[in-house]
Amino acid sequence: MKKAGMALRLAASKLSGQQIPFQVTFEVTDVCNLSCEYCLFKHEESRRTMFDSKRALRLVEEMAAAGTVKVNLSGGEPLLHPAIDEIVAAIRGFGIDCFLNTNGKLIDRHLKTVEKLSCLNISLDGDKPAHEAARGKGSHEYAIKALRTAKEMAIPRLMTAVIGKHNLDQIDYLVSTARALDAGIVILCLIKPRGTEGSVYAIPEEEGRRLFIDIAQRKSRGEPFVYSAASMKVLQEWPLHLGTDHVLLRDKHLITGKTVPCYAGRYYCAVYADGTMSPCCISKGFVKNEPNVYDMSFQEAFARIREHGCYACNVPSVVDMNLLFSLHPVAIKNALSVYRF
Ligand code: SF4
Repeated sequence: MKKAGMALRLAASKLSGQQIPFQVTFEVTDVCNLSCEYCLFKHEESRRTMFDSKRALRLVEEMAAAGTVKVNLSGGEPLLHPAIDEIVAAIRGFGIDCFLNTNGKLIDRHLKTVEKLSCLNISLDGDKPAHEAARGKGSHEYAIKALRTAKEMAIPRLMTAVIGKHNLDQIDYLVSTARALDAGIVILCLIKPRGTEGSVYAIPEEEGRRLFIDIAQRKSRGEPFVYSAASMKVLQEWPLHLGTDHVLLRDKHLITGKTVPCYAGRYYCAVYADGTMSPCCISKGFVKNEPNVYDMSFQEAFARIREHGCYACNVPSVVDMNLLFSLHPVAIKNALSVYRF
């Protein structure tokens, strides 16, 4: 019913050209209790920002009024935010789906909140040596324990695997773990990650392309990968017809060939711990005079990010979302089957 309502609003907004922030990624803090080697924050000056609790609760009200149907709570580690329980309760109180990304370490302190989630996304990169190579000692145990807890509580769960050179051989482990814990697998690939180019984690593009081909084949055999076969195809073809950059910008690249239209800033956005809003979680800093929700309402800020200089990208999570908002039949069928709520 909820999905049907969203489909109708999407169809209406396509006809009218209206902007609706169906999905919001909300980084409630950039503070973390791990220090993963490939993390963006590790390569930027250290940050210690907690989004203001009162503003966060008002922001949720504003999102609900604007038509948001899904909020992804992210960080840093969102469970470190002092008002995380109230924020999740407010989101669910408005009937908005709430996903939460976590490394799993603090799950036991927030079980009542976990119970309210639509989905718990737990970072897991592979077996103990592979996971801990980048994420630190003890981190594998927290992740597995959190996945088991979510299974016992019957909370839908995803494993988010950051794939770099260090764990390219971990796909079989991830599949068998996901099957045992009845979880979906989200792949983030370190082909050209900001701050880690040339690092021991970065995957050469050809290897990245082989990875996407492998995942597409595995998915066709029924292995529990979340992103659609259509997005894997876009990713496989990216270096061939669109050049080698990770993101194509209107004023920098000559755009040729077929691309997936970008709906960031029209149907989804990201809000950061410092209050700034960007079209998606990759395009921070792309909008001139980036709006800030401490200075204006959520809706006013959203109206200011529609025009951005970004044309296309090869980031799995947003490619799949752009295909979905383009009403690509394979992406729609996939979303209906993998999100079981
Ligand atoms: S093209 Fe990709 S990176 Fe750029 S704004 Fe759209 S979704 Fe974000």
